[in-house]
Amino acid sequence: MKSIQMKMDRKQSIIDKIFARVEIKDLGFILNGVISPCHIWTGPTSGEGKGGGYGRMCLDGQTVAVHLVIYTHYNGYIPSKKHIDHLCNNRLCCNELHLEMVTPKQNQKRRITRTREKNYVPIYNQLRCDGPISDAPN
Ligand SMILES: [Zn+2]
Repeated sequence: MKSIQMKMDRKQSIIDKIFARVEIKDLGFILNGVISPCHIWTGPTSGEGKGGGYGRMCLDGQTVAVHLVIYTHYNGYIPSKKHIDHLCNNRLCCNELHLEMVTPKQNQKRRITRTREKNYVPIYNQLRCDGPISDAPN
């Protein structure tokens, strides 16, 4: 009984440690029709480039990804073949409601869709500038 209590305290202290370095920000992410603020990690990150931009922390002398610690805390064990996807597309976010376990295939598919969505705006602007309006007779 006592050891379970100690384990719980330890788990809670990890979460407290994370929340001490988190900023709650409304970044416009909408979940089930309501604005759901992101929990932005303000501590160290995995740097820039591929695989970069994720929150990192030190736990028992090991460097771990903050969002994975949060996910595990609320949902338990993550099978090694699964990925944790940020529904809000913000790698520094560790709001447990914004994290979802997916297969690598699903994760890749989502990434492609999001990249397309990101590209959509400039293409649209370009069409609007060079489109029929400029060709209209005066
Ligand atoms: Zn988020």
